[in-house]
Amino acid sequence: MSRRRQKLRQQAYWSDQPGLFDLPPEGGTDSPMPELSDADSDAERLQFISFGSGSSGNCAYIGTASCGLLIDAGVNNNIVLEQLAANAIDVNTIRGILLTHDHFDHVQYAYAILRRHPHMRLYTTPKALNGLLRRHNTSRRIADYHQPIYKEFPFNVGPFTVTAFETSHDGSDNMGYCIEAGEIVFTVATDTGFITPRADYYLRKAQYVMLESDYDEYMLRTGPYGAHLKARVASSTGHMDNADTGRFLAQIAPEGRLKRVFLCHLSHINNTPEKAVGTITDILTAAGIDVCPDAMPLPLDRRLHLLPLPRSTSSPLVILS
Ligand SMILES: [Zn+2]
Ligand SMILES: [Zn+2]
Repeated sequence: MSRRRQKLRQQAYWSDQPGLFDLPPEGGTDSPMPELSDADSDAERLQFISFGSGSSGNCAYIGTASCGLLIDAGVNNNIVLEQLAANAIDVNTIRGILLTHDHFDHVQYAYAILRRHPHMRLYTTPKALNGLLRRHNTSRRIADYHQPIYKEFPFNVGPFTVTAFETSHDGSDNMGYCIEAGEIVFTVATDTGFITPRADYYLRKAQYVMLESDYDEYMLRTGPYGAHLKARVASSTGHMDNADTGRFLAQIAPEGRLKRVFLCHLSHINNTPEKAVGTITDILTAAGIDVCPDAMPLPLDRRLHLLPLPRSTSSPLVILS
């Protein structure tokens, strides 16, 4: 069976399963987050920046003037600090690191950041922390910073409600995050062989998504990777290819919530930003969705914006509103 058919079968299996943690319909419960008033909306506007994305290192920031979070810690902490300062973000407002899984490109600078900023916490599941301690030559003291979290159990950090959810990858434990701040929902799903049902649920809720678009199927198949590595990348516990990402976005975009997609974890060997944006734009355009590929800053129109995150440099700072 081809890998693509294998993935489709697995997706079909999961979509038949009843949702274990399906939440009550939107609006059924009171939002735990206060609405931002006009007076404080400027100071508390939500900002996003990526410091690097891909197999050489992943780290992003999301936050307001009073509270922020890092997503993964795979970029040199000196660069992260430098970029935070360059964008007038106070590192003391960053409460911690949301760790997606225990692969090197996501964890390699976690302890260095935590040790320099001991007020920060390391948010991840106990299973992912155990994997990190077992697989990496990192200080065991990293456990002192651990704030255990559990998938599908929302937790609050400052103005944010954060929920970790299952992704499909070959780390010790793998998760994406849905970060809610009042009306604004930002969902990140990276390092996942396919869109799991829970990722599907949280990605559909969001106006802003950071979604993996790791490889171009043809470039991977004909490229320099050995057979074993090719199989690993393309497996249902590997990474998303551009076309799968495009097809998923074409499914959720018509619902009308989605404003901007940060394409992340683009392979250096098996992808290019032009390929990723081109393939996804073609799929979305064929589905009748109006795409704006390079909108910086975000214009006030109704088109869907695609922004491929740079691999080894920082993205522009984006206001999420
Ligand atoms: Zn990775
Ligand atoms: Zn990984």
